[in-house]
Amino acid sequence: MMALRGGGPLKLGGTLDVSVAGAESNVAIGLSRLGHPVRWAGAVGADEAGELVLRTLRAEGVDVRGASRDEAAPTGLILFEPRLPEVTRVHYYRAGSAGSRVEACAVEAAFLAEPPRAVHLTGITPALGPAARAAARRVLRLAQEHSTLVCLDVNFRSRLWSREDAAEELRSWVPYVDVLIASDDELPLCLPEDTLRGPAGTDPSAQAEALLGLGVGEVVVKLGADGATAHTGHGTGGTLHAPARRVTAVDAVGAGDAFVAGYLSALLDGADTAARLDRAVTTGAFAVASYGDWEGAPTRAELGLLGAGAGTVVR
Ligand code: ATP
Repeated sequence: MMALRGGGPLKLGGTLDVSVAGAESNVAIGLSRLGHPVRWAGAVGADEAGELVLRTLRAEGVDVRGASRDEAAPTGLILFEPRLPEVTRVHYYRAGSAGSRVEACAVEAAFLAEPPRAVHLTGITPALGPAARAAARRVLRLAQEHSTLVCLDVNFRSRLWSREDAAEELRSWVPYVDVLIASDDELPLCLPEDTLRGPAGTDPSAQAEALLGLGVGEVVVKLGADGATAHTGHGTGGTLHAPARRVTAVDAVGAGDAFVAGYLSALLDGADTAARLDRAVTTGAFAVASYGDWEGAPTRAELGLLGAGAGTVVR
């Protein structure tokens, strides 16, 4: 979708920066910058905002040949309103947008054009409407048929749907998911009610273990400035924690998507869990230390920059 970012309270007017946003496109760009071939499947309107989205993705090396243009609906819009240094308000204009109407057959064509090694979905897509939900479900089934690894970032958005509706949908996705990434308060959305009535009711570690028990391969819990924990169920050492990288935070939006891109990148490289977490907390830190959702995403060569001391000039 198109993203407009103001410099203060929206009601006062002023100028807006024009860019592109979207959890999946953020992950796609993050992976592409790290050198992976990436295809983005989604829908934009047949309008200039849609052109901006596709042009940006293309410029970042993301394959958009599977994207569709909807002649009858506009490209979705998001407004970022920085309200306090640490607080950004987000306003969505995406009800009825092209993205909410993405068709399962278009997504299927994008998938089958060249079945991928891994597919990444977020819990935002099914919240957009019945068409997007059906398209996401189709992807899950295609991935299962083609033994494609499925990564899900729960990314619960309370502005788009209720926790009850999210839980009803996402619980049915769990059997398809290989890598589940979530904040700790999102884990219950993926677990059956009866599991939550037991000891897992309030304990994120027990919830992650319960998800492993349901067949999820690994559960990665994002903990903001506290880093992240990966649960893999491989006996002792099956739970690994990585602290966050220390950076000056300037814009926290997009940290989760950058984290996912880093985690998936290392996974696709065949790295072990510790190295996946290490790359994920590094790319997450790049996002919080940079303005914009994806603009600061590092290339592979830039990953080492984060360890450089304050005042370093790279000549
Ligand atoms: P968003 O939805 O805003 O993208 P999220 O809630 O999905 O964020 P977070 O847990 O906030 O994700 O952040 C993801 C990762 O980014 C964290 O696990 C951590 O590694 C890194 N990160 C987040 N905040 C900071 C910070 N202040 N300093 C350094 N790293 C951070």
